[in-house]
Amino acid sequence: MDTTTIFELEDGHGSGAYAKRPIALVKGRGVYVWDADGKRYLDATSGQGVAALGHCHPAVLAAINAQASQLITSQEAFYNDRRAELYTLLAKLTPGDLDQFFFCNSGAEAIEGALKVAMLLTGRAGIVAAKRSFHGRTTGALSMTWTQKYRKPFMGWLPRVSHVPFNDIDAARAAITDETAAVVVEPVQGEGGVHPASRAYLQALRQHCDEVGAMLVLDEIQTGFGRTGDMFGFEAARILPDIMALGKAIAGGLPMGAVCWRSAHGQIPRASHGSTFGGNPLGCAAAIAALSAIRDLRLSEHAGEVGGWMTDELRDLNLRGVREVRGRGLMIGIELRGRVSPVLKQLQERGILTLPAGLNTLRLLPPLVITRDELATARDAIAETLG
Ligand SMILES: *Cc1c(COP(=O)(O)O)cnc(C)c1O
Repeated sequence: MDTTTIFELEDGHGSGAYAKRPIALVKGRGVYVWDADGKRYLDATSGQGVAALGHCHPAVLAAINAQASQLITSQEAFYNDRRAELYTLLAKLTPGDLDQFFFCNSGAEAIEGALKVAMLLTGRAGIVAAKRSFHGRTTGALSMTWTQKYRKPFMGWLPRVSHVPFNDIDAARAAITDETAAVVVEPVQGEGGVHPASRAYLQALRQHCDEVGAMLVLDEIQTGFGRTGDMFGFEAARILPDIMALGKAIAGGLPMGAVCWRSAHGQIPRASHGSTFGGNPLGCAAAIAALSAIRDLRLSEHAGEVGGWMTDELRDLNLRGVREVRGRGLMIGIELRGRVSPVLKQLQERGILTLPAGLNTLRLLPPLVITRDELATARDAIAETLG
Protein backbone atom coordinates (compact mmCIF):
# COMPACT_ATOMS: atom_id res chain seq x y z
CA MET A 1 0.00 0.00 0.00
CA ASP A 2 1.43 3.43 -0.89
CA THR A 3 1.86 6.29 1.57
CA THR A 4 -1.00 8.44 0.20
CA THR A 5 -3.49 5.57 0.42
CA ILE A 6 -2.42 4.78 3.98
CA PHE A 7 -2.88 8.44 5.02
CA GLU A 8 -6.33 8.65 3.35
CA LEU A 9 -7.63 5.45 4.93
CA GLU A 10 -6.34 6.25 8.42
CA ASP A 11 -7.52 9.88 8.32
CA GLY A 12 -10.95 8.81 7.01
CA HIS A 13 -11.69 5.99 9.44
CA GLY A 14 -9.57 6.77 12.51
CA SER A 15 -11.05 8.31 15.67
CA GLY A 16 -9.37 11.66 15.10
CA ALA A 17 -7.89 11.44 18.60
CA TYR A 18 -4.27 11.42 17.46
CA ALA A 19 -2.14 14.24 16.05
CA LYS A 20 -0.43 12.25 13.29
CA ARG A 21 3.08 12.72 11.96
CA PRO A 22 3.17 12.46 8.17
CA ILE A 23 5.09 9.20 7.72
CA ALA A 24 3.76 5.62 7.59
CA LEU A 25 6.00 3.16 9.41
CA VAL A 26 5.91 -0.33 7.92
CA LYS A 27 9.02 -2.13 9.17
CA GLY A 28 11.42 -2.19 12.11
CA ARG A 29 14.71 -3.94 12.95
CA GLY A 30 16.77 -3.12 16.01
CA VAL A 31 17.04 0.64 16.54
CA TYR A 32 15.74 1.43 13.02
CA VAL A 33 12.28 1.74 11.44
CA TRP A 34 11.37 2.26 7.77
CA ASP A 35 8.51 4.20 6.18
CA ALA A 36 6.40 3.07 3.23
CA ASP A 37 8.71 5.00 0.86
CA GLY A 38 11.71 3.01 2.09
CA LYS A 39 13.30 5.84 4.12
CA ARG A 40 15.12 4.66 7.26
CA TYR A 41 14.86 6.39 10.68
CA LEU A 42 16.77 5.96 13.93
CA ASP A 43 13.92 5.32 16.39
CA ALA A 44 14.73 7.33 19.51
CA THR A 45 11.11 6.83 20.64
CA SER A 46 11.15 2.99 20.92
CA GLY A 47 7.47 3.27 19.99
CA GLN A 48 6.93 5.36 23.19
CA GLY A 49 9.37 3.34 25.33
CA VAL A 50 7.99 -0.09 24.38
CA ALA A 51 10.74 -1.51 22.15
CA ALA A 52 13.47 -1.64 24.83
CA LEU A 53 15.19 -4.45 22.90
CA GLY A 54 14.73 -2.67 19.60
CA HIS A 55 12.24 -3.78 16.98
CA CYS A 56 11.64 -7.45 16.16
CA HIS A 57 14.29 -8.80 18.53
CA PRO A 58 15.06 -12.41 17.44
CA ALA A 59 14.45 -13.89 20.93
CA VAL A 60 11.03 -12.24 21.16
CA LEU A 61 10.14 -13.30 17.59
CA ALA A 62 11.10 -16.91 18.30
CA ALA A 63 9.07 -16.97 21.52
CA ILE A 64 5.97 -15.49 19.84
CA ASN A 65 6.22 -17.91 16.92
CA ALA A 66 6.67 -20.95 19.14
CA GLN A 67 3.82 -19.99 21.49
CA ALA A 68 1.46 -19.00 18.65
CA SER A 69 1.51 -22.54 17.32
CA GLN A 70 1.06 -23.97 20.85
CA LEU A 71 -1.69 -21.90 22.58
CA ILE A 72 -2.54 -18.23 21.95
CA THR A 73 -5.38 -17.65 24.38
CA SER A 74 -6.38 -19.11 27.70
CA GLN A 75 -8.25 -17.25 30.41
CA GLU A 76 -6.95 -16.99 33.99
CA ALA A 77 -9.69 -19.35 35.15
CA PHE A 78 -7.25 -22.07 34.01
CA TYR A 79 -3.59 -22.53 34.90
CA ASN A 80 -0.94 -22.13 32.19
CA ASP A 81 2.77 -23.06 31.95
CA ARG A 82 3.95 -19.78 30.37
CA ARG A 83 2.11 -17.66 32.96
CA ALA A 84 3.63 -19.70 35.81
CA GLU A 85 7.07 -19.19 34.25
CA LEU A 86 6.54 -15.43 33.92
CA TYR A 87 5.54 -15.14 37.61
CA THR A 88 8.79 -16.89 38.56
CA LEU A 89 10.92 -14.66 36.35
CA LEU A 90 9.26 -11.42 37.50
CA ALA A 91 9.60 -12.41 41.16
CA LYS A 92 13.36 -12.82 40.56
CA LEU A 93 13.67 -9.45 38.77
CA THR A 94 11.76 -7.46 41.39
CA PRO A 95 13.52 -6.55 44.66
CA GLY A 96 12.36 -7.54 48.15
CA ASP A 97 9.02 -9.29 48.44
CA LEU A 98 7.42 -7.53 45.44
CA ASP A 99 6.21 -11.00 44.43
CA GLN A 100 2.43 -10.74 43.94
CA PHE A 101 1.21 -9.93 40.40
CA PHE A 102 -1.93 -9.17 38.42
CA PHE A 103 -1.55 -9.23 34.62
CA CYS A 104 -3.49 -6.88 32.34
CA ASN A 105 -3.05 -5.38 28.86
CA SER A 106 -1.85 -1.80 29.13
CA GLY A 107 -0.30 0.77 31.42
CA ALA A 108 -3.56 2.52 32.24
CA GLU A 109 -5.06 -0.80 33.27
CA ALA A 110 -2.06 -1.45 35.49
CA ILE A 111 -2.68 1.91 37.21
CA GLU A 112 -6.40 1.12 37.62
CA GLY A 113 -5.44 -2.26 39.06
CA ALA A 114 -2.90 -0.66 41.41
CA LEU A 115 -5.60 1.66 42.76
CA LYS A 116 -8.01 -1.20 43.32
CA VAL A 117 -5.31 -3.20 45.11
CA ALA A 118 -4.48 -0.16 47.29
CA MET A 119 -8.16 0.37 48.14
CA LEU A 120 -8.68 -3.33 48.89
CA LEU A 121 -5.58 -3.52 51.10
CA THR A 122 -6.31 -0.32 53.06
CA GLY A 123 -10.12 -0.10 53.02
CA ARG A 124 -9.67 3.60 52.11
CA ALA A 125 -10.43 5.64 48.97
CA GLY A 126 -8.23 8.76 49.07
CA ILE A 127 -5.63 9.23 46.34
CA VAL A 128 -2.68 11.62 46.26
CA ALA A 129 -0.83 12.20 42.98
CA ALA A 130 1.73 14.71 41.74
CA LYS A 131 1.39 17.77 39.55
CA ARG A 132 2.78 17.31 36.01
CA SER A 133 2.14 13.53 36.34
CA PHE A 134 1.02 11.15 33.63
CA HIS A 135 -0.66 7.87 34.54
CA GLY A 136 -2.84 7.07 31.54
CA ARG A 137 -6.17 7.89 29.91
CA THR A 138 -8.85 5.66 31.40
CA THR A 139 -11.05 7.70 33.72
CA GLY A 140 -9.53 6.35 36.96
CA ALA A 141 -5.96 6.75 35.70
CA LEU A 142 -6.93 10.08 34.19
CA SER A 143 -7.96 11.32 37.65
CA MET A 144 -4.30 11.18 38.67
CA THR A 145 -2.92 12.59 35.41
CA TRP A 146 -2.17 16.29 36.02
CA THR A 147 -2.34 17.74 32.47
CA GLN A 148 -5.62 19.70 32.22
CA LYS A 149 -5.84 19.11 28.45
CA TYR A 150 -6.34 15.40 29.12
CA ARG A 151 -8.46 15.73 32.30
CA LYS A 152 -10.83 18.65 31.81
CA PRO A 153 -13.48 17.20 29.44
CA PHE A 154 -14.16 14.40 31.96
CA MET A 155 -13.80 16.32 35.23
CA GLY A 156 -17.29 15.64 36.64
CA TRP A 157 -16.92 11.86 36.31
CA LEU A 158 -13.61 11.40 38.03
CA PRO A 159 -12.77 10.14 41.54
CA ARG A 160 -11.41 12.68 44.03
CA VAL A 161 -7.65 13.03 43.84
CA SER A 162 -5.47 15.68 45.41
CA HIS A 163 -2.46 16.79 43.37
CA VAL A 164 0.67 17.93 45.18
CA PRO A 165 3.79 19.63 43.77
CA PHE A 166 6.37 17.03 42.69
CA ASN A 167 9.56 16.70 44.81
CA ASP A 168 7.97 18.79 47.61
CA ILE A 169 8.22 16.78 50.83
CA ASP A 170 6.25 19.16 53.08
CA ALA A 171 3.34 19.40 50.64
CA ALA A 172 3.21 15.60 50.43
CA ARG A 173 3.23 15.23 54.23
CA ALA A 174 0.34 17.67 54.52
CA ALA A 175 -1.76 15.90 51.86
CA ILE A 176 -1.21 12.25 52.87
CA THR A 177 -3.50 11.38 55.79
CA ASP A 178 -5.04 8.34 57.46
CA GLU A 179 -7.76 8.51 54.78
CA THR A 180 -5.25 8.06 51.96
CA ALA A 181 -5.29 4.69 50.21
CA ALA A 182 -2.61 5.41 47.62
CA VAL A 183 0.18 7.88 46.92
CA VAL A 184 1.03 7.54 43.24
CA VAL A 185 4.22 8.93 41.67
CA GLU A 186 6.57 8.29 38.74
CA PRO A 187 10.26 7.77 39.68
CA VAL A 188 11.02 10.01 36.68
CA GLN A 189 8.11 12.01 35.30
CA GLY A 190 8.10 11.21 31.57
CA GLU A 191 5.28 13.05 29.75
CA GLY A 192 5.56 15.87 32.28
CA GLY A 193 9.01 16.86 30.98
CA VAL A 194 11.54 14.23 32.19
CA HIS A 195 11.86 15.27 35.84
CA PRO A 196 13.55 12.73 38.17
CA ALA A 197 12.16 12.35 41.72
CA SER A 198 14.88 13.12 44.24
CA ARG A 199 16.09 10.30 46.46
CA ALA A 200 15.11 12.32 49.57
CA TYR A 201 11.58 12.80 48.20
CA LEU A 202 10.96 9.09 47.58
CA GLN A 203 12.44 8.22 50.98
CA ALA A 204 10.22 10.79 52.71
CA LEU A 205 7.14 9.47 50.88
CA ARG A 206 8.06 5.95 52.00
CA GLN A 207 8.41 7.02 55.61
CA HIS A 208 5.22 9.09 55.69
CA CYS A 209 3.14 6.36 53.98
CA ASP A 210 4.36 3.93 56.67
CA GLU A 211 3.37 6.36 59.42
CA VAL A 212 -0.23 6.84 58.19
CA GLY A 213 -0.77 3.39 56.66
CA ALA A 214 -1.08 4.55 53.02
CA MET A 215 0.19 2.49 50.08
CA LEU A 216 3.13 3.93 48.14
CA VAL A 217 2.42 3.19 44.47
CA LEU A 218 5.19 3.75 41.95
CA ASP A 219 4.29 4.09 38.29
CA GLU A 220 7.19 2.21 36.65
CA ILE A 221 5.41 1.90 33.30
CA GLN A 222 7.98 4.06 31.49
CA THR A 223 10.92 3.78 33.92
CA GLY A 224 10.77 0.02 34.55
CA PHE A 225 12.94 -2.76 33.11
CA GLY A 226 16.28 -1.01 32.77
CA ARG A 227 15.34 2.35 31.25
CA THR A 228 16.85 4.51 34.04
CA GLY A 229 20.05 2.50 34.59
CA ASP A 230 18.47 0.27 37.27
CA MET A 231 15.98 -2.53 36.70
CA PHE A 232 13.35 -0.24 38.33
CA GLY A 233 13.47 3.53 38.76
CA PHE A 234 12.82 3.45 42.53
CA GLU A 235 15.98 1.40 43.21
CA ALA A 236 18.17 4.51 43.05
CA ALA A 237 16.35 5.76 46.18
CA ARG A 238 16.94 2.49 48.09
CA ILE A 239 13.27 2.13 49.01
CA LEU A 240 10.63 -0.50 48.34
CA PRO A 241 7.16 0.60 47.15
CA ASP A 242 4.07 -1.29 48.33
CA ILE A 243 2.71 -1.52 44.80
CA MET A 244 4.07 -0.79 41.33
CA ALA A 245 2.46 -0.49 37.92
CA LEU A 246 4.30 -2.02 34.94
CA GLY A 247 3.72 -1.85 31.19
CA LYS A 248 5.37 -0.60 28.00
CA ALA A 249 8.59 -2.68 27.65
CA ILE A 250 7.30 -5.67 29.62
CA ALA A 251 6.42 -7.94 26.68
CA GLY A 252 8.87 -7.00 23.92
CA GLY A 253 6.24 -4.99 22.03
CA LEU A 254 3.07 -7.00 22.66
CA PRO A 255 0.41 -5.23 24.72
CA MET A 256 0.75 -6.11 28.40
CA GLY A 257 0.64 -4.46 31.79
CA ALA A 258 1.03 -5.75 35.34
CA VAL A 259 0.32 -4.71 38.90
CA CYS A 260 2.93 -5.89 41.36
CA TRP A 261 2.74 -5.67 45.15
CA ARG A 262 4.52 -6.89 48.28
CA SER A 263 3.55 -10.39 49.31
CA ALA A 264 3.63 -9.15 52.95
CA HIS A 265 0.30 -7.44 52.12
CA GLY A 266 -1.24 -10.75 51.00
CA GLN A 267 -3.53 -11.44 48.05
CA ILE A 268 -6.73 -9.62 47.05
CA PRO A 269 -10.20 -11.19 47.51
CA ARG A 270 -11.62 -13.61 44.92
CA ALA A 271 -13.46 -11.88 42.07
CA SER A 272 -12.30 -8.43 43.19
CA HIS A 273 -10.57 -7.91 39.82
CA GLY A 274 -10.21 -9.63 36.43
CA SER A 275 -9.35 -9.35 32.73
CA THR A 276 -10.22 -11.46 29.67
CA PHE A 277 -6.84 -11.08 27.94
CA GLY A 278 -4.82 -10.66 31.15
CA GLY A 279 -2.06 -13.26 31.51
CA ASN A 280 -2.66 -14.73 28.04
CA PRO A 281 -0.01 -17.31 27.04
CA LEU A 282 1.18 -15.39 23.95
CA GLY A 283 1.85 -12.21 25.92
CA CYS A 284 3.48 -14.19 28.74
CA ALA A 285 5.79 -16.02 26.29
CA ALA A 286 6.85 -12.70 24.72
CA ALA A 287 7.43 -11.19 28.18
CA ILE A 288 9.58 -14.13 29.31
CA ALA A 289 11.78 -13.73 26.20
CA ALA A 290 11.97 -9.93 26.46
CA LEU A 291 12.69 -9.74 30.18
CA SER A 292 15.24 -12.58 30.04
CA ALA A 293 17.07 -10.73 27.26
CA ILE A 294 17.00 -7.43 29.20
CA ARG A 295 18.52 -9.27 32.19
CA ASP A 296 21.05 -11.39 30.25
CA LEU A 297 22.29 -8.50 28.10
CA ARG A 298 22.59 -6.37 31.28
CA LEU A 299 20.69 -3.62 29.53
CA SER A 300 20.04 -1.60 32.70
CA GLU A 301 23.81 -1.17 33.20
CA HIS A 302 24.22 -0.36 29.51
CA ALA A 303 21.38 2.21 29.68
CA GLY A 304 23.04 3.86 32.68
CA GLU A 305 26.41 4.00 30.91
CA VAL A 306 25.47 5.20 27.43
CA GLY A 307 22.61 7.33 28.76
CA GLY A 308 24.98 9.12 31.14
CA TRP A 309 27.47 9.57 28.29
CA MET A 310 24.80 10.98 25.94
CA THR A 311 23.50 13.38 28.61
CA ASP A 312 27.06 14.71 29.18
CA GLU A 313 27.62 15.05 25.42
CA LEU A 314 24.39 17.01 25.00
CA ARG A 315 25.26 19.29 27.92
CA ASP A 316 28.80 19.85 26.58
CA LEU A 317 27.39 21.06 23.26
CA ASN A 318 26.09 24.17 25.07
CA LEU A 319 23.50 24.65 22.37
CA ARG A 320 21.92 28.07 21.98
CA GLY A 321 18.38 26.70 21.80
CA VAL A 322 18.70 24.52 24.94
CA ARG A 323 17.82 25.60 28.48
CA GLU A 324 18.62 22.34 30.32
CA VAL A 325 19.45 18.68 29.70
CA ARG A 326 18.22 16.27 32.38
CA GLY A 327 17.13 12.68 32.92
CA ARG A 328 18.36 9.32 34.06
CA GLY A 329 19.79 6.51 31.95
CA LEU A 330 18.17 6.36 28.51
CA MET A 331 15.33 8.67 29.51
CA ILE A 332 16.67 12.04 28.44
CA GLY A 333 14.89 15.39 28.36
CA ILE A 334 16.23 18.41 26.49
CA GLU A 335 14.35 21.52 27.61
CA LEU A 336 14.30 24.03 24.78
CA ARG A 337 13.98 27.80 24.82
CA GLY A 338 11.24 27.52 22.20
CA ARG A 339 8.54 25.05 21.22
CA VAL A 340 9.44 21.44 20.56
CA SER A 341 7.17 20.65 17.60
CA PRO A 342 9.29 22.24 14.83
CA VAL A 343 12.37 20.49 16.28
CA LEU A 344 10.62 17.09 16.16
CA LYS A 345 9.84 17.77 12.51
CA GLN A 346 13.37 18.81 11.57
CA LEU A 347 14.89 15.80 13.33
CA GLN A 348 12.43 13.55 11.51
CA GLU A 349 13.58 15.04 8.20
CA ARG A 350 17.16 14.25 9.28
CA GLY A 351 16.11 10.63 9.91
CA ILE A 352 15.78 10.70 13.72
CA LEU A 353 12.44 10.06 15.46
CA THR A 354 12.08 11.73 18.88
CA LEU A 355 9.25 12.51 21.33
CA PRO A 356 7.91 15.66 22.96
CA ALA A 357 7.37 15.97 26.73
CA GLY A 358 5.13 18.95 27.29
CA LEU A 359 5.35 21.94 24.95
CA ASN A 360 9.08 22.63 25.09
CA THR A 361 10.98 19.50 26.08
CA LEU A 362 12.47 17.09 23.55
CA ARG A 363 12.44 13.54 24.94
CA LEU A 364 14.76 10.71 23.90
CA LEU A 365 13.62 7.17 24.76
CA PRO A 366 15.78 5.05 22.42
CA PRO A 367 15.88 1.25 22.57
CA LEU A 368 18.15 0.15 25.44
CA VAL A 369 20.32 -1.78 22.96
CA ILE A 370 21.42 1.46 21.25
CA THR A 371 25.20 1.92 20.89
CA ARG A 372 27.32 5.01 21.53
CA ASP A 373 27.86 5.42 17.78
CA GLU A 374 24.14 5.39 17.12
CA LEU A 375 23.58 7.89 19.92
CA ALA A 376 26.35 10.05 18.44
CA THR A 377 24.35 10.18 15.18
CA ALA A 378 21.36 11.49 17.13
CA ARG A 379 23.59 13.96 19.02
CA ASP A 380 24.98 15.36 15.74
CA ALA A 381 21.50 15.75 14.25
CA ILE A 382 20.35 17.54 17.42
CA ALA A 383 23.42 19.81 17.31
CA GLU A 384 22.71 20.71 13.67
CA THR A 385 19.04 21.37 14.41
CA LEU A 386 19.49 23.44 17.58
CA GLY A 387 22.95 24.97 17.05
C1 LIG B 1 2.58 5.27 28.94
C2 LIG B 1 2.35 5.50 30.37
C3 LIG B 1 1.12 5.17 30.99
C4 LIG B 1 -0.07 4.67 30.21
O1 LIG B 1 0.19 3.47 29.55
P1 LIG B 1 -0.82 2.99 28.37
O2 LIG B 1 -0.27 1.64 28.00
O3 LIG B 1 -0.74 4.01 27.28
O4 LIG B 1 -2.17 2.92 28.95
C5 LIG B 1 1.01 5.38 32.34
N1 LIG B 1 2.03 5.87 33.07
C6 LIG B 1 3.22 6.20 32.52
C7 LIG B 1 4.32 6.72 33.39
C8 LIG B 1 3.41 6.04 31.15
O5 LIG B 1 4.58 6.38 30.61
